[in-house]
Amino acid sequence: MAFPKITVIDDLSSALSASAKWDAVIVVAADCNAVSEPAIQAALNAHQQIDARINSEVLLFSNEQVPGKRIIFAPTGQLSRYYDDVRRFFDVANQAAKLAASAGVKQPLVLVDAPDDERFKNAVSAVYLGLTQGLWQPLEARMALDESELEPITEIGLLGSTDSVSAKWLMAAEAGKRVARDLCGTEPERMAPPGFADYCVEALAGSAVKVEVISDQRQLERQYPLLFAVARASEAVERHQARVITMTYEGKGPIEHSLYLAGKGITYDTGGADLKVNGHMAGMSRDKGGAATVAGFMKMLAQLQPEGIKVVAEIGAVRNSIGADAFVADEIITSRAGVRVRIGNTDAEGRLVLSDVLTHLIELAENDDKAEFFSVATLTGHAARAVGPYTALVENGVARTKDSAKMLSAAGDLWADPAEVSRSRREDFDFVRPRTKADDLLSSNNAASAVTARGHQFPMAFLQISSGLDKTSHAYTHVDIAGSGVEGGDWQHGKPTAAGLMMLAGRYL
Ligand SMILES: [Zn+2]
Repeated sequence: MAFPKITVIDDLSSALSASAKWDAVIVVAADCNAVSEPAIQAALNAHQQIDARINSEVLLFSNEQVPGKRIIFAPTGQLSRYYDDVRRFFDVANQAAKLAASAGVKQPLVLVDAPDDERFKNAVSAVYLGLTQGLWQPLEARMALDESELEPITEIGLLGSTDSVSAKWLMAAEAGKRVARDLCGTEPERMAPPGFADYCVEALAGSAVKVEVISDQRQLERQYPLLFAVARASEAVERHQARVITMTYEGKGPIEHSLYLAGKGITYDTGGADLKVNGHMAGMSRDKGGAATVAGFMKMLAQLQPEGIKVVAEIGAVRNSIGADAFVADEIITSRAGVRVRIGNTDAEGRLVLSDVLTHLIELAENDDKAEFFSVATLTGHAARAVGPYTALVENGVARTKDSAKMLSAAGDLWADPAEVSRSRREDFDFVRPRTKADDLLSSNNAASAVTARGHQFPMAFLQISSGLDKTSHAYTHVDIAGSGVEGGDWQHGKPTAAGLMMLAGRYL
């Protein structure tokens, strides 16, 4: 786990002395005038005389007075408008990380000046997380090349206490995000279902999180019938065979929050018999982003071991292949909850995988009156179309009365992991209704979700009915990260973001 460790700086003047160990000073603030340290501000003002870009671009320039003899200034720009949020800090730190790494920086001291405003109360943390996001390199690259050269920054000096959380908390969050980025971002052979399960087992080995993996295909066929329908065409290829991964954490003390998380882990989505054509398949190794976020959250719990919280997470890791045994539209398959599901389109596979996983979680939550349910998934192109680069939250009635999604979204705003709340409506249930007595439920229509009205809301109605959640009194929020799971919405090349993880962490940890 080579991500930069945090060293908390208590004494700024000695950290800034030219003999200190730091090899660069990274400064993040709205502009030169917002920098509070007089020596740094003087250096910035001097540089401004020869470079007019100073308040608009991330720049590196030399300065004899600071450790490492160089300053990287990362201006966030204006922060006072109602639509500015802490991502201004995260994003500019992400850019600064790339500049620092290519400049050969290994141990920067980082100074952050943020306005005294509730929205920016985690600005220092957001800078750290933006730096680590910028520094992360794909697992394949780290395996093939020299990891210490690819990710050269080993330590970051942060001033004072890191906002509202400890350095330990923040490093636990980054450990989790790193796991999530690796799992989401890695190509489909290295991170086929068995590899996905192995990575989870290894990442959580010896920790307070218990991991169980089902690899027996006959057991999956019996216990996870919808999931297995998706897995059918991959069974013949041993290295692609499905896995169900269950991770459990129970903190000490009386349990205040009890979370049940289902993660969609489609390690590759060909679309199945409804094959993705016209170039729409590239990037579909990232269709495991929801499962990656869930596993990353468990890694954070393992590092942090918080009290008063219980989390049960289950991931369906499945490759949606095409082949002689591929499931097809029109098949009727009875879910684990006993609901007869008519397949509408085999490219709407994520909801099938999640459904049986949710049912198993309902079984585990019997007698748990604090249980709150979540599904995390790169589920629909519609989510990306409707809310752009944000996560979309769709909650059931119980969750809505508890303001579950509203509180999650508020936490996400403070942690540079924002989400928008969508409503679940009667039309969503009508959309998946049975058309004959032959089945109880339709999985999807046959147009791309992005051009289907309520394309990210109606699948949540499906998930409730097919899993049996609609027959419980559990709060349930569906988390669609199809728009937020990778940087720039570029599913083929964009860096995974671990979307949803910081929102959950900010809300519950
Ligand atoms: Zn699909």
